[in-house]
Amino acid sequence: MMKIFTFALAILLLGSCSTNKSVAKTDAGVYKYRAPEQKSAPHKKEMVPLVVIDAGHGGFDLGTHSNTYEEKVICLKTATYVRKHLEKAGYHVIMTRSRDEYLPLKKRAEIANHAKCQILISIHCNSAKNTSAKGIEIFYTQKTESTRAKKSKQLAQSVLSSLLAQTGADSRGIKEGNFCVIRETKMPSILIETGFLTNEEERKKLSNDFYLDTVAKAITSGVDQYFKNS
Ligand SMILES: [Zn+2]
Repeated sequence: MMKIFTFALAILLLGSCSTNKSVAKTDAGVYKYRAPEQKSAPHKKEMVPLVVIDAGHGGFDLGTHSNTYEEKVICLKTATYVRKHLEKAGYHVIMTRSRDEYLPLKKRAEIANHAKCQILISIHCNSAKNTSAKGIEIFYTQKTESTRAKKSKQLAQSVLSSLLAQTGADSRGIKEGNFCVIRETKMPSILIETGFLTNEEERKKLSNDFYLDTVAKAITSGVDQYFKNS
């Protein structure tokens, strides 16, 4: 009886081994143990922050422009790089626009509010009559309840210090701004002016994809630091 039981157990074990998906054959024909895929608990999935990235302007709204550049194009490129780096870092990302289209400002805020994201980041480039004006500045609004204003300022500070460290650009500081896209949202929101297209030196940098990728990496590190501190 015992022998039959042992035999049955051995068959059972063999059967289960042959269907064990955690053992995989490599290219070299060697079987290796592969850790089973970790299925995250639903509550853990909800804890991954959702970031809305807003690329400024779009469609007929070129933003600041000349014969050789358009702000809307640089904003979209930068935003796309930010999405790539944030997703690589494990964040969920929604873009208000991912192609060259016009979106009213209120619609951008509505997208973020509807998505119930944790933060919104709007990306722009600056311009000035004075062509020597340069540097990065970040806006947040105080025309909102105090916690959102405080958190927006913290996010702005975190992103600005990361941008300055990684790009070497000049700082124009954190400023209060009453822009629709950061005022009409319900979550911490900032608007980044990544540099002046009217300044020759900064225009050259902002026309370089490698530099825009560096800017995007810096924004991602700043976002990461903000969530670690909050
Ligand atoms: Zn703009």
